[in-house]
Amino acid sequence: MLVYHLPGTFETREDHLDLLWEAGATGLEERAGLIRAYFDEETELPDAIRDGEWRQEADQDWLAEFKANLRPVQAGRVTIVPPWLRAEIPATQVGLVIEPGMAFGTGHHATTRMAVEALSDLNLDGQTILDVGTGSGVLAIAGALLGAEYALGVDIDPITIPIAEENARDNAVPEGRTAFMVGTLGDDLPGDVVADGVFDVLVANLYAELHDLLVGAYVGHLRPGGPLILTGILTGKLPLVQGALDREGFTDVEVRTDGEWALVTARA
Ligand code: SAM
Repeated sequence: MLVYHLPGTFETREDHLDLLWEAGATGLEERAGLIRAYFDEETELPDAIRDGEWRQEADQDWLAEFKANLRPVQAGRVTIVPPWLRAEIPATQVGLVIEPGMAFGTGHHATTRMAVEALSDLNLDGQTILDVGTGSGVLAIAGALLGAEYALGVDIDPITIPIAEENARDNAVPEGRTAFMVGTLGDDLPGDVVADGVFDVLVANLYAELHDLLVGAYVGHLRPGGPLILTGILTGKLPLVQGALDREGFTDVEVRTDGEWALVTARA
């Protein structure tokens, strides 16, 4: 990989970025006070950008590097791992295997981890769970592995459904204990297990503005007294979600945070 190291930043060398592109750069990156311009071959450069240096660098496989750096994530009673780290699940923990891929939800994001932790704080034996914005299916699968009788994951993005189904199979979730469908609240949910669309637990890792819009629908899908777990909320947006929960009469509102992210639990 051929890289031209030019001293400066995108800001200080703003006028020179076009010159790099015109000279044939295939990509530009700014790192540690240097502009790194990627080229296929060494080329004659205009005077204004001749103060740099050509370097041959080893090719980097970013995906391989990302995968090599993944570590098991502990979330309450659950340890989430990629398939190649199965052996690192402690015998005392519930193991949850998620293949990192196109759908959000490997467990490495604070919101996913806090949501699994919140599920693991509950006694889910024989319970039904609705997971809104299921992504990789991680929360629905965690629920099933923690004893839920049935967890339904819904997502507006069709790409997530086969991924979530495969993750459920990889975790040997018994047939019928999880189901995934394209959709959102307000759509008809499959009524074979939960005929009235009312679940014992509702979990949703979305974002504050969407929780504000959906909170009325959460009431309609949660049994009275049932736990609600909401995350994907930036701490600065907590008042929006807390206000919406107050408006709809939710009680026992509690907040946990991890860095800039918050999770809110409440009861219908
Ligand atoms: N549940 C996973 C987790 O906790 O890691 C994935 C959460 S990811 C942040 C949010 C997911 O919600 C995405 O897969 C997105 O497609 C889905 N989504 C966004 N808006 C939605 C909506 N209105 N209804 C259902 N799913 C939605």
